[in-house]
Amino acid sequence: MEQKYILVINAGSSSAKFRLFGLEQDLPLLAQGLASEIGGESDFKAKTSGRETEDLPLCPFKTHEDAIDHLLAWLVHNDFPLENIKAAAHRIVHGGSRFSKPAFLNEETLDYLHSITHLAPLHQPHNLVSVDILENKVPNILQYGCFDTAFHANHGPLFTHFALPLEMAEKGVLRYGFHGLSYDWIASQLKKDHPNLAKGKVVVAHLGNGASLCALENGKSIDSTMGMTAVDGLPMGTRTGAIDAGALLYIMRHMDYSIDDIDNLINKESGLKGLSGISNDVKILSESDEDTAKFAIEYFVLKVAQYITAMAVSIGGMDGLIFTAGIGENAENIRNLVLKRLEFMPEFECHVIPTNEERSIAESVWKNYAKDILDSSNMLHKEAAF
Ligand code: ADP
Repeated sequence: MEQKYILVINAGSSSAKFRLFGLEQDLPLLAQGLASEIGGESDFKAKTSGRETEDLPLCPFKTHEDAIDHLLAWLVHNDFPLENIKAAAHRIVHGGSRFSKPAFLNEETLDYLHSITHLAPLHQPHNLVSVDILENKVPNILQYGCFDTAFHANHGPLFTHFALPLEMAEKGVLRYGFHGLSYDWIASQLKKDHPNLAKGKVVVAHLGNGASLCALENGKSIDSTMGMTAVDGLPMGTRTGAIDAGALLYIMRHMDYSIDDIDNLINKESGLKGLSGISNDVKILSESDEDTAKFAIEYFVLKVAQYITAMAVSIGGMDGLIFTAGIGENAENIRNLVLKRLEFMPEFECHVIPTNEERSIAESVWKNYAKDILDSSNMLHKEAAF
């Protein structure tokens, strides 16, 4: 019988990562790639696992639809027929207060996810547009959403409330936490490779362009540095991280910033980019001799270390610290500077574990929905035979 696939899409504001897995028990990786700089000087890099890959000529991607069209054409060109894609699993940043596990995407669940777009305006629209595009392009596909917030869905009230009047919490103004697909993956890897540590108190540092920390106890998320939106906690590539709300009011009142200006300032112009005036990229900053580049790195390291201790307080200690994502996995200088600031703490284990959000998405959909996906693909098979 022909091989069937599950396609994982992780769509960001100007990029879309994909992974194609075989619909089998161990979900073999068949192809992977990235469409980048959508709306700009677009690029598409992809490869198949274990066989020759054939590229297609590239037209600039004006929109996510162009990028996904190209991806689908690339799949067909590399002998992955579209009708064999039986399921798609999407990274969706915000599941609101409703989803604590992957969800089947139908009209009703999609309506809900559209209704909370304002909670993750930089990400959610792109996540959802990819669902619509695949619905139109791949016949009979079943689609699922996996949420960055879901892994944190059981945080207790101490870790979800802001110190605002209680009615704000009732209206959904709460700390949800993000990067949950990455933390879920790390928790599963810990269980496999460090089973004793996995039962203990672990702080995970997901340090990429977006950055946050998660406090795990026995593999469960207890606290995270991210809040209602993905701008809280650590300073990031272009985001402020936690900031005195009064400072923002001051900027609005006295520097004539509108709400949109503030949005742009805290999400796109700040963090490492704002502090250095050079780049959001840690690699570039690490190689720079400029004082502002050094300052940006020192600042980032300080905040990571400070917040690690805050996470340790949330779980009453720290048996282990895990670094992951672009900076966490690759920037040894940053890891060492953070560890230096934590030398005063009681001894703890430290590991680097590569994250794999796309496999985490595929596995969680497979775990929850394998029967539905297989039934539907068999049913279609039978219908076709009639
Ligand atoms: P995203 O949040 O966009 O998925 P990534 O997890 O890919 O981000 O991380 C991007 C960050 O990782 C960038 O700041 C980049 O500089 C950093 N990074 C990647 N490789 C290296 C490296 N070899 N040395 C230092 N920093 C690196």
